[in-house]
Amino acid sequence: MAKITTFTDPAMSILPILCYPDPRLHTVAKPVAKVDDRIRQLVQDMYATMYDAQGVGLAATQVNVHERVVVVDVSEGRDEPFALINPELLWASEETQLGEEGCLSVPGIYDGVERSTAIKVKALDENGNERIIEAEGFKAICIQHEMDHLMGKVFVEYLSPLKRNRIKTKLLKQQKQAERA
Ligand code: ZN
Repeated sequence: MAKITTFTDPAMSILPILCYPDPRLHTVAKPVAKVDDRIRQLVQDMYATMYDAQGVGLAATQVNVHERVVVVDVSEGRDEPFALINPELLWASEETQLGEEGCLSVPGIYDGVERSTAIKVKALDENGNERIIEAEGFKAICIQHEMDHLMGKVFVEYLSPLKRNRIKTKLLKQQKQAERA
């Protein structure tokens, strides 16, 4: 995946990303009351943060803002970002797929998670317009992953307690080492 080099807009800032097992990742986000300039700025900053970290999606929860906002870009060219504000799942297929997932809040860890193959979501865009998004495959996985964050859920919670504890221990150790460095 090509690294994006186009976010030179000075109005965008890269926000710090919370790392698992930070308890703030389990905060349930509140609905956005009004899509205003503050939310538009948050969306721009989240795009910049997602591209900087070479991610395909980011939820506001991960940047310690507990409002229902996610951004996604699963395009090859890394140039088709979109925001989902107050996303609501309208439909999810019974058919599921097992995909390997990673998360910007769980660096270096990838594991299989079973999710619906296709979904239909209603959300507002950054202009406050309602849109219906139908997604399948990787895009559907990504949107489900990000919407989980807004409910305070991190993908490792789908894994066995044994695996989750190993991940927790490993990341805490890494975080301590990083603090010392
Ligand atoms: Zn994530």
